[in-house]
Amino acid sequence: STLENELVAAIRSIPDYPKPGIVFRDITTLLGNPRAFRRAVDELVHPYAGIGIAKVAGIEARGFILGGAMAHQLSTGFVPIRKKGKLPHETVRIAYSLEYGVDEMEMHKDAIKPGEKVILVDDLIATGGTAEAAVKLLQQMGADIVAACFIIDLPGIGGRKKLEALGVEVRTLVA
Ligand code: 5GP
Repeated sequence: STLENELVAAIRSIPDYPKPGIVFRDITTLLGNPRAFRRAVDELVHPYAGIGIAKVAGIEARGFILGGAMAHQLSTGFVPIRKKGKLPHETVRIAYSLEYGVDEMEMHKDAIKPGEKVILVDDLIATGGTAEAAVKLLQQMGADIVAACFIIDLPGIGGRKKLEALGVEVRTLVA
């Protein structure tokens, strides 16, 4: 589609970052492009206007930028899902696997009420490990996850399947 082409053109690929052999998809160029940023956010929110979404939950850190814009446009609240140790109030925490080792993410215990409709967002899904942990946290809080949204899908690594196995609909704009 022309939108997908425009978004692809606005994303920069950085070879050998953060280490040799990895091509990093850098969305700062998309964020810095007024038309591409607006079109990406418009497309992300478009199915979810007027269906009673209570919160957009964003994964640190690029999910905060997209999620903040989406929450404003949908007139919902915003919930940050953060690396451990950053949130000041009582939290729920979950460990998840990285390529090397493990990390933990958390959210405030009172950030979501049971049954609230939530959209989860991050910039990119690869293995799906990060988003899967966020989904489990939200589900633990009783959230009704309407969808998990990403600008970029790195297909063929199983990220989408991992979320679908948890009963979550996945939407991506660019493959
Ligand atoms: P996963 O857990 O799905 O393997 O990795 C996705 C997480 O790592 C997301 O939080 C995403 O922001 C980050 N990530 C991994 N690779 C890239 C990349 O090439 N570009 C960007 N922008 N983020 C990446």
